[in-house]
Amino acid sequence: MSDVQRVAKKIDGKAFAENMRRRIAVQVEKIKSSHGITPGLAVILVGEDPASQVYVRNKGKQTAECGMTSLEFKMPATATEEEVLAKVEKLNNDSDVHGILVQLPLPDQINEAHVINAISPDKDVDGFHVINTGRLATGQKAMVPCTPAGCVVLIKDVLGNDLSGLKAVVIGRSNIVGKPVAQLLLNENCTVTQAHSRTKNLPDECRAADILVAAVGRPNMIEGDWVKPGACVIDVGINRIAAPERGEGKMRLVGDVDYESACQVAGSITPVPGGVGPMTIAMLLAATVTACCRIEGLVEP
Ligand code: NAD
Repeated sequence: MSDVQRVAKKIDGKAFAENMRRRIAVQVEKIKSSHGITPGLAVILVGEDPASQVYVRNKGKQTAECGMTSLEFKMPATATEEEVLAKVEKLNNDSDVHGILVQLPLPDQINEAHVINAISPDKDVDGFHVINTGRLATGQKAMVPCTPAGCVVLIKDVLGNDLSGLKAVVIGRSNIVGKPVAQLLLNENCTVTQAHSRTKNLPDECRAADILVAAVGRPNMIEGDWVKPGACVIDVGINRIAAPERGEGKMRLVGDVDYESACQVAGSITPVPGGVGPMTIAMLLAATVTACCRIEGLVEP
């Protein structure tokens, strides 16, 4: 591949997120010094899923690094729905807590929708509460899901603030990524196609996209010749595949987009890792500051 010219600009989500976190730390300091309020984020982790434990640890670390209060509540995998609901209710009523996040997935005995919809919509920093989903869909001030919000921030950084009339194709229709990404791009006046597992002629749909967002969870599915020349490609997928070149039993992360072929056609593209992934926590921290300002009646940064 080295003799083939790569045309795409690599979208460095890691560097962007680092900058964001620095700006958030400054905002937090101002809120503390001007109002004596410290934004607080509470994360509930039920069970011992290793990936979730890593996510929660990173969230806590970065929250504290930005000067916010980070609270972590670990509950056993055997916790009942009532116990988790009681914890949520306690945090809803805790005035030091401005953001509440329940790490998903939850164990089978717990209904995720019940728990998510028990979070106060004003403290719902993940933006998954049905009220926030409805607000987003109807153009009202909402708490917006973090990964989708991070995608749009990166897209605007590359294409500018005005995305009007651009054709966007979002592959995936999950509630946590695909649907909110499509909704956000629609709110930006893009012409949006929501593709999914039953979409016919997916490569042709993709070839029409000025903005192509992949949120599928299938390694390297989107090939370079599915990409419109010059398109902005956002790869949300995080897939772990075997990497025998790194040693026996070793794994590595790849996205849903075949990076090598796509970056010869795209105008810009997020790598995996180092693209959308790091933006998620940065957007969570920003959402906590936003929630704090709204709840406390402060001007939003
Ligand atoms: P999901 O499994 O809930 O949804 C996947 C979607 O892909 C479905 O809507 C399905 O219709 C669609 N799909 C499946 N096979 C398809 C096919 N062959 N062609 C077209 N569409 C197909 O997954 P999710 O939770 O939305 O996550 C998607 C990916 O994004 C995963 O790899 C996940 O790990 C990753 N993810 C990353 C972040 C982050 O970067 N912070 C956050 C959330 C999810």
